[in-house]
Amino acid sequence: MKKIFWIVFGLLWISFGISLIKHPNFYDSRHGIYQNFSQIRWPLGGGFIFVGTLFLVVSFKMKNGKTVDFICPKCEKTVKDIEGKDIYCPKCGTKMEPLEGFYERHPDRKKG
Ligand SMILES: [Zn+2]
Repeated sequence: MKKIFWIVFGLLWISFGISLIKHPNFYDSRHGIYQNFSQIRWPLGGGFIFVGTLFLVVSFKMKNGKTVDFICPKCEKTVKDIEGKDIYCPKCGTKMEPLEGFYERHPDRKKG
């Protein structure tokens, strides 16, 4: 799931909780229902804010993924991309390898 989704979701819960605390009385004119949350606005609104904060904490703990260098074993082109992904060379389409340790794994490729 996308990180931004969690942030938006968390902010929605928090703003709902704040509006509940600020305006605990609802009058639904369409259905003629009057609701008064003023007795429970703090536990209820606070609960919404708490849940929203949890969403935010979860989203901030999510990692976007570390960016590392990849190298093409065929043409030795290097690109930067997210670690753990399958990267294919934009030049020749060969599956790329992480640059770290590449010359140790392929000593014959060592330059110089
Ligand atoms: Zn290549």
